Amino acid sequence: MILDIHVTGVVQGVGFRPFIYRLAKSHNLKGCVMNLGDAGVKITVQGKKEDVYRFIENIKKKTPPLAKIEEIKVEEKRREEVFVDFSIMQSKHEKESAGSIIPSDIGICDDCMRELFDPIDRRYLYFFITCTNCGPRFTIINSIPYDRERTSMASFKMCSECGEEYTNPANRRFHAQTVACHSCGPQVFLTDKRGVSLSNSSIDALEKASKLLAEGNILAVKGNGGFHIACSVEDDEIILRLRGLLGREQQPFAIMARDFETVKRFAHVSEEEGKLLTSPVKPIVVVKKREEYDKFISKQVSPKLHTIGVMLPYTGLHALLFQWNKLNVLIMTSANKPGYPMVVDNEEAQKKLSPMVDYLLMHDRDIVQRCDDSVISFMGGKKTFLRRSRGYVPLPITLKNRFKDPVFATGPDTDVTFCILTNSQAFLSQHIGDTSHYETIEFFKKAFQHFQSLLDVKLSIVTCDLHPRFATTLFAEQLSQEKNIPLIHIQHHHAHLASLLGEHNKEEMICVTADGFGYGKDGNAWGGEILLGGFSGYKRVGHLQLQPLVGGDLAAVYPLRVAAGILGDDAMDFLMQNKKTFPHGEEEITLIFKQLKNKQYIYTTSCGRILDAVAAILGICYKRTYEGEPARKLEAAAYMGKDVLQIEPVIKGNTLDTSIIISKVFEYRDKYSLRDLAYSAEEYVAKGLVDLAVEYAEQEDIRCIGFSGGCAYNAHILTRIRSIVEKAGFEFLQHEKVPPGDGGVSFGQALIAANMLDR
Ligand SMILES: [Zn+2]
Ligand SMILES: [Zn+2]
Ligand SMILES: [Zn+2]
Repeated sequence: MILDIHVTGVVQGVGFRPFIYRLAKSHNLKGCVMNLGDAGVKITVQGKKEDVYRFIENIKKKTPPLAKIEEIKVEEKRREEVFVDFSIMQSKHEKESAGSIIPSDIGICDDCMRELFDPIDRRYLYFFITCTNCGPRFTIINSIPYDRERTSMASFKMCSECGEEYTNPANRRFHAQTVACHSCGPQVFLTDKRGVSLSNSSIDALEKASKLLAEGNILAVKGNGGFHIACSVEDDEIILRLRGLLGREQQPFAIMARDFETVKRFAHVSEEEGKLLTSPVKPIVVVKKREEYDKFISKQVSPKLHTIGVMLPYTGLHALLFQWNKLNVLIMTSANKPGYPMVVDNEEAQKKLSPMVDYLLMHDRDIVQRCDDSVISFMGGKKTFLRRSRGYVPLPITLKNRFKDPVFATGPDTDVTFCILTNSQAFLSQHIGDTSHYETIEFFKKAFQHFQSLLDVKLSIVTCDLHPRFATTLFAEQLSQEKNIPLIHIQHHHAHLASLLGEHNKEEMICVTADGFGYGKDGNAWGGEILLGGFSGYKRVGHLQLQPLVGGDLAAVYPLRVAAGILGDDAMDFLMQNKKTFPHGEEEITLIFKQLKNKQYIYTTSCGRILDAVAAILGICYKRTYEGEPARKLEAAAYMGKDVLQIEPVIKGNTLDTSIIISKVFEYRDKYSLRDLAYSAEEYVAKGLVDLAVEYAEQEDIRCIGFSGGCAYNAHILTRIRSIVEKAGFEFLQHEKVPPGDGGVSFGQALIAANMLDR
């Protein structure tokens, strides 16, 4: 019999054709296999009926580790075609079925790592060593079907030895599109700040770079998805210099450790954290510092936090940075100012990064798609994305329902990702950043074009935030006009709720949505909301007390302004004592109280602002220099604390009183330890939010309560909310597939719009 088999899912660039080739041979089948232009794979097999069916069974059973099968469609052929053998055929551009996507980048595998350091291997110390099981994919692919000529490897012609491996079915690099070696593949080179070349070979460049790092230099390092800035973690002075140059006063830097053993020496690593660190994705995992941490790593790397984001070398190049020095850990931070896109090309690097670094380590292969490192933290034992990017993008999130009309959701303003939802899959983009910057929204538009062409979808609807001035809102409006498709504005916290529902395939819940800011339906700044709802709508059933935000956005940067707004004249002396923390000192403070008196301010229900205010009153953080800084430092300060204030949540109607906790913290600021006060404040907020949610859930007989928004990154608040919800007999939902923060908002927007169209 002859069968045509269509396989959809992640089946290109993961060794799927070689797998099919070997499997067909072992089942005595003849025929062929090829990649298609829709990212799927088509197989034709000829053989005995029982062999053919066992073959199909085994496609499912023995799928290669990186492949993900969405669907296998089988069609019997009557034609009298005769195959003499089984072969891998040239790819076809034709598109036959939707539902497939190219794979994400995959960290260096153990086999390649072994060869990299094996002196007799022909790829000994070759920085771009890869195979069918590892290497870049998303970041090198221009278009599909996935073949070398449509990747940024196109300009590197395989040498005869690589060609032999590529065509040998028994070889690990059989049909590996990124196959390359010292003689035919990409080369790496080192330059100084002015662009003067300092190396005469790849190994020479890496050896010099490795030594320069040990000598205390700052290097720009081109990786697979963009440039990093690397330097030693030991010297305060170097790190402070880097902070100044990057404009990152306090934001923690991610680090890369030589190996897993090293990580365990300075951090507590649970079994699941260890598994994730060493998994094929090799993401940044946020782990808790050990007491010994300070012996290895400068306090300036992750100041005033109890955690550190760490990753392992995920390319040959990274591993080689440790080869000619004794460094155990390097700072490895993406090369960009906060919120801006990471630098990806050599010329741009020379221009933009030269002022910040001493040397540049670059290679001659282009980066097609920029992709930041993913960042993951375990929250109450569950894997939680702070950033879902390298290693996960563009893999889809599978939905319970199928939607016939493709949706494009543009996300919010900061920490943006976008989402294209088609059929039963939601494709979230890589981390884009803060779209209020021109460069970032340009990156957004380019990435959108790329996704659209990879997925080959015709959009039916576009959706964006309710905020009228977000760059993503303006882009959505423009797109809606150009394509003549409807546009829907979605309230920020409703999108948070929908993203959590969508992850768990639920229809309705009560969601505690707590974050820094979302444009409210009433025009106020929301951020501490209890919403009851589903995809088709929501009801705001509770919220934090409205508090004055004196100076609007300034209050988010200088949280003592929030404290002043809540405490009123009582805080005057205190602010004066801390006048140095205000850019304009006394004058500014006088103005704040004048504005307060004249009621010149907007209101907010933001939970983030309350936590910020506590951090400022306790002297933990007076100025926000990165997203969430005061609240994150508050959490670090509260770690292992106890509830000394023991204040029962004060709820009036559907509003949680937040003035009381601020004034109590203020009153007792010199009486109890900072740690216990910080803990008590978080405890109050957690209990208050969950009390509102539980009360309403009982009243309305809703069985499910969730927690979304940026405040869900606070492990103390999250675990407290969860334990109360579960104790009260409800099901608790938290994010596991998309970020609880604004990186997950586009997913929620897309689901709301898709459900609307479906009706
Ligand atoms: Zn490999
Ligand atoms: Zn070669
Ligand atoms: Zn948010």
